[in-house]
Amino acid sequence: MSKANDDTRPVRGMRDLLGQDSAGFDTVVDTLRKVAQSHGYSHIETPILEFSSLFARSLGEDTDVVGKEMFSFIDRAGQSVSLRPEGTASVVRAIISNGLTQKLPQKLYYWGPMFRYDRPQKGRYRQFFQFGVENLGEGAPLSDVDIVSLAYNGLTRLGIKSKLFINSIGDQASRSAYKAKLVEYFSKYEKDLSEDSRRRLTTNPLRILDSKEANDIRLVATAPSISDFLTVEAAAFFERVLNGLGTLSIDFSIDRTLVRGLDYYDHTTFEFKADIDGQSLAIVGGGRYNGLVEQMGGPHVPAVGLAFGIDRIMLAYDASKLLAPPLIAVLFVAKGDEPMALELAQRLRKKFNVVFPVEGNLGKRMKQCNAAGASCALILGEDEIAKNFVTCKFLKDGPGYTSGLERAVSGDTLEEFLTQTCFSGPNT
Ligand code: AMP
Repeated sequence: MSKANDDTRPVRGMRDLLGQDSAGFDTVVDTLRKVAQSHGYSHIETPILEFSSLFARSLGEDTDVVGKEMFSFIDRAGQSVSLRPEGTASVVRAIISNGLTQKLPQKLYYWGPMFRYDRPQKGRYRQFFQFGVENLGEGAPLSDVDIVSLAYNGLTRLGIKSKLFINSIGDQASRSAYKAKLVEYFSKYEKDLSEDSRRRLTTNPLRILDSKEANDIRLVATAPSISDFLTVEAAAFFERVLNGLGTLSIDFSIDRTLVRGLDYYDHTTFEFKADIDGQSLAIVGGGRYNGLVEQMGGPHVPAVGLAFGIDRIMLAYDASKLLAPPLIAVLFVAKGDEPMALELAQRLRKKFNVVFPVEGNLGKRMKQCNAAGASCALILGEDEIAKNFVTCKFLKDGPGYTSGLERAVSGDTLEEFLTQTCFSGPNT
């Protein structure tokens, strides 16, 4: 089979997660779930596939995500559907279609794969994972502070060094005044703008600030700043968000060009960036989107949310710090000892993680225990069964034991013994 047709390779921009990567993935998701729950958020699961028009209407026709990066296709019923490129649109759709706009606030978290047909590179994939949280129904600046602090708490708990960049793109009134000024400014340089930005001059001038083209970036650097166009209310709102972050001692830098890549934001926008292999990459992005629910056909519902980029967090996360939970192995010596060993493995699983290799001779099975990373092997033979004890052979060094050490342990106090040895100290 030629390489081009080799269907044992994953599709470009998509990858398998195995070994330490998948262990790191589990830790990141578990940690973020606990942090989201500690802020009062509960789980929502939405489909991976939605009508294409949902994303076009919510994220904006003119964004890169909708214009260039969607995985869209016509299904067997002739309808255009898309793999979700992000989670907020689906959560808003779910809130409306399940009538939850009558029960506000809704504080929801989700995680799962997202799809964007972008050019793959380190930290940018066509299938990537986000952990998102959405607060629908709360319009106070303290809710923005809560969302930002949730991101801060998650990253801190994972031991990831990052910097917070924050901006306000104001309310509708602030933005219309600002857009007019932007058009006036960029029109002077129309011929230097990229083709996309030239088009956006008439369709959506704010998007020019988000361009990745070098020439556009140069012009954006000296463009008028949104800060001069915020209404009194929008400026006061932003001030209260920043004061709240100050109260929590969360450091931030104001970045006046931070408009984010999707159209639905207003007021607060923010990103946490981390240094990944010498590159500064956004690992969390979010902001307020007070107009979206109404724009999608629901009532007016103020909202604020964020998404962690799990793949990039894994790149910033030191997986070598991962403390795998201790693993116990149960080994029978001869065929006749199998039932007792099977029972013992079942009993210990109430408290511990247990591997129970079943194929090959004792030596081969012992090797499997080592390969699985077991802390100790509990060996059950004729003698052990007759006298109600197990031989515990340590396979690793730990607090109070060394690899190779063997101890005879009474069957009656086995759990207590394991708790005090393998499960005490820094290993747990
Ligand atoms: P966004 O939905 O664009 O606001 O992105 C939120 C976060 O998701 C970003 O800060 C990234 O960490 C992550 N992210 C976005 N696109 C990708 C991608 N193509 N590959 C990996 N991570 C991504």
